[in-house]
Amino acid sequence: MHELSLALSLLEQIGAVAERERATRVSSVHLRVGRMSGIVRDALLFSWELARADTIAGEAVLVIDDVAVAVWCPRCDAERPVRDGEGLMCVECGTIAPTIVRGRELELTSMEVVS
Ligand SMILES: [Zn+2]
Repeated sequence: MHELSLALSLLEQIGAVAERERATRVSSVHLRVGRMSGIVRDALLFSWELARADTIAGEAVLVIDDVAVAVWCPRCDAERPVRDGEGLMCVECGTIAPTIVRGRELELTSMEVVS
């Protein structure tokens, strides 16, 4: 499962930060996950539950911020959201806008630790 390897690499990053901060445990972890990242939220949460057992993040709450897809519209010359269910089409003018500026990310944005 793709999400399981993501959860494991996330825990590696978290472990490294926690060690640097001399933390004894991690209380929460915040992620930004784009809607076009290909990550299934429920699968990620499930994998997280499995992977974090017996780690420093064993009791950490995982908070996932959903990032909507945005494209660069050449006609509006601006960043725009896309029309729902219509692929990469500008919500304002309907132009096909293939340049995705947001919505593909998976980022560890912050975490809280207890030292
Ligand atoms: Zn447009």
